[in-house]
Amino acid sequence: MTNYKGVWAFARLNTMRIAVYPGSFDPVTLGHMDIIERSSKLFDKLIVGVLVNSSKVPLFSAEERVNMIKGVVSEYANVEVRSFDGLLVEFARLCKATAVVRGLRAVTDFEYELQMSQTNHIIAPDIDTIFLTTNLNYAYLSSSVVKEVARYGGDISKFVAPEVRRQVLEKYNR
Ligand code: ADP
Repeated sequence: MTNYKGVWAFARLNTMRIAVYPGSFDPVTLGHMDIIERSSKLFDKLIVGVLVNSSKVPLFSAEERVNMIKGVVSEYANVEVRSFDGLLVEFARLCKATAVVRGLRAVTDFEYELQMSQTNHIIAPDIDTIFLTTNLNYAYLSSSVVKEVARYGGDISKFVAPEVRRQVLEKYNR
């Protein structure tokens, strides 16, 4: 007898639309969370990829960033969080993703993002980059802004989730 359940599960796995949303997320902001929420609706599965080794020295370790993001995306059943090192397209392939999601805030993001997406497309033509424009409420927001404001004792409650705020303030002994 044919195991239709098994065949269906296999077919489903092969047609699942999986995307990777890579970044430093140091720390994850409400702007990132908006992109996560919106792209989780566009794909069957979204994997948030926390870059371990970037040129920037992070405030939070990769493990801390992964756990922090897990804490704020728990309501989205199809979102996973992992860390990665090395080439983004290799990570995307490992995740069986066919798309990379990036957020665009202003024209200043555009030039770098265009170059990266074109380079990635040459290396891996089977993986496309999808850009989501920022929610206007968060167009100004970046992880650097959050750290800068927190370092000088400013209020970051409009920029990050409460649990993230707590961890940022702890880093600055506030
Ligand atoms: P990276 O170092 O890779 O730029 P970031 O954590 O700064 O990592 O950003 C990850 C992704 O999220 C990038 O695509 C970035 O453009 C996007 N992003 C960052 N902040 C916002 C925001 N406020 N609104 C929309 N997208 C954002």
